[in-house]
Amino acid sequence: MEPDSKTIHDHCISLLQERGVKISDITDIVYDLQAPYIENLNRQVCEDAVYRVLAKREVQNAVLTGVELDKLAEQGKLSEPLESLVNDDNPLFGIDEILVLSICNLYGSIGLTNFGYVDKTKPGIIGKLDREGKETDKCHTFLDDIIGAIAAAAASSVAHNNAK
Ligand code: MG
Repeated sequence: MEPDSKTIHDHCISLLQERGVKISDITDIVYDLQAPYIENLNRQVCEDAVYRVLAKREVQNAVLTGVELDKLAEQGKLSEPLESLVNDDNPLFGIDEILVLSICNLYGSIGLTNFGYVDKTKPGIIGKLDREGKETDKCHTFLDDIIGAIAAAAASSVAHNNAK
């Protein structure tokens, strides 16, 4: 039976929360990405954009898949060599970045530019997830890219709406 989209949407938001990410953490990144370009940018506009992105099925599917793989790797439940590649966040793995491309491309090519930028600079919660992944027994290999891509897409959506 196919689960209805409201259930999946709510489940994704609680999954992110369970993994240490609040909507306000993502909103902070969107705000910082767009504030230099939009005069008097309103935080609510950024938060609305985050929810718009999270309402998309391709985003929900990426959240479900990526978070599940992070959790299984954390519990040592993947088969080798995948277990080590994911749990150690191996820089040559790259599937974490590929998984989120559909999110980056939701609102055109600025999404991809924004994603590359946050992937390099690791602002706010992304940096925190990255450090926890390296310094603790938590695995955030997929989650940091998922959050970066959601923030990047939301920032693009804000930019496009502002241009209208
Ligand atoms: Mg990653």
